[in-house]
Amino acid sequence: MSEITQWSLHRLREALRKKEVSAVEVARAHVDAVGKAGALNAVTTPTPERAIEMAEQSDKRLAGGEGGALEGIPLGVKDMFCTEGVASTACSNILEGFTPPYESDVTERLWQAGACLLGKLNCDEFAMGSSTETGSSGAVCNPWRGNGDARLTAGGSSGGSAAAVAARLMPVSLGTDTGGSVRQPAAFTGTVGLKPSYGRCSRYGIISYASSLDQAGILARSVTDSAILLGTIAGHDSRDSTSADIEVPDYESELKGGISKMRVGIPKEYSVDGMPGEIDDLWKQAAGWLEEQGAEIIEVSLPHTRHALPAYYIIAPAEASSNLARYDGIQYGKRAKANGVDELYGRTRAEGFGVEVKRRILMGSYVLSAGYYDAYYLKAQRVRALVARDFDNVFEKVDVLLAPTTPSAAFALGEKTDDVLALYLGDIFTVPVNLAGLPAISVPAKLNGEGLPLGMQLIGRRFDEATLLRAAKAVEDSAGFDAVPQAWWSP
Ligand code: GLN
Repeated sequence: MSEITQWSLHRLREALRKKEVSAVEVARAHVDAVGKAGALNAVTTPTPERAIEMAEQSDKRLAGGEGGALEGIPLGVKDMFCTEGVASTACSNILEGFTPPYESDVTERLWQAGACLLGKLNCDEFAMGSSTETGSSGAVCNPWRGNGDARLTAGGSSGGSAAAVAARLMPVSLGTDTGGSVRQPAAFTGTVGLKPSYGRCSRYGIISYASSLDQAGILARSVTDSAILLGTIAGHDSRDSTSADIEVPDYESELKGGISKMRVGIPKEYSVDGMPGEIDDLWKQAAGWLEEQGAEIIEVSLPHTRHALPAYYIIAPAEASSNLARYDGIQYGKRAKANGVDELYGRTRAEGFGVEVKRRILMGSYVLSAGYYDAYYLKAQRVRALVARDFDNVFEKVDVLLAPTTPSAAFALGEKTDDVLALYLGDIFTVPVNLAGLPAISVPAKLNGEGLPLGMQLIGRRFDEATLLRAAKAVEDSAGFDAVPQAWWSP
């Protein structure tokens, strides 16, 4: 394995600026790593030529002393982002052959900053899932195996983005987080997963799942690297009416502040029956780390937490069923053979969507239908308001919250395929944040008894990513997590 692929974004940036390596050398090392990692199935559409071409441009700019914030940094993006001229399918057969004529706002910002595209990354179909098994490209395999031999899930839906960063195929990547899809895969792969506040990054050009919950997110190997990337992708965009027109701080320098006197809330509801004792112990240990660094630990209550998951699994499918109505075989992607327009719609959708997406469309259409709208959809929206109000109340007393990211470590591929409720339950600690539009981050904190990574989650006030990242850095510093998976996939 090339040494260059072990370097963090921060380290690469220094080496490129000092001309210790060229952008083309950096791109080649990563293209090579991607090429050898087929067993992980993390990259669905590799773009090696584009990566090298972009790196050549970066080298020219670096030679001229120009260079953007990410000049020469190779990275991959989840297949939920529209990338001009590169297939963008949300890992769905219904978008087979769709190559967008435009670029998403956040990826456009990456290329403007000098980053180079290594490829599109595998995910659950339309980002619906928690295990990256439902997409048209098949399952992603977690680089971590722990003490056993079983092939494990890298989490989902941004499993490809997380596996690629954990396996050192790229220093950072983009995912999307609608209900935990960046934080949960981060926890399962020993990487840092950041979901910014709703409105912090533009959703323009991100294939929609549930529009009131979707956010672009970052997978990285350190909090500093996520801060650097957030500074690039955040910002107002008039093409997304929910994008916030507020200042973007310099997150990297804000990290230096430390956490002295920071008030950290421990929400007592973030503990569930059946959660392994080692996750509870880690949570206490992490609170201790923050206290040692000068924070004040305060127990708080978010009483509506247990209603968040059912509300999410009504609201997200409702919005999804409406968003997915546009895939009719006429405008984009796949078109089934049929006689007449009704048959064309029906067949295209029957052949194009996978089983999980169909399940969400059925649930969503049901809860939005005339007789059930008040009983389900409207009630779920009321619950959502209560969940958000709980957070508002505690953020009067504390600056950030500390909780586990997931109630378990990575599980085996196929283990929950027949039990979707068990899969949905795994999202219990991540969905409340999306319902309330808050920023949150998962930081790798230790390996469990089976040698698998566990993540701790920090949750911040809306648009206060700077404080959130500072707290995350403190957890990272104390945890000192430096374990790396064995490169079993590389021939
Ligand atoms: N697992 C959740 C779902 O399937 C979250 C997915 C996501 O954040 N995209 O809805």
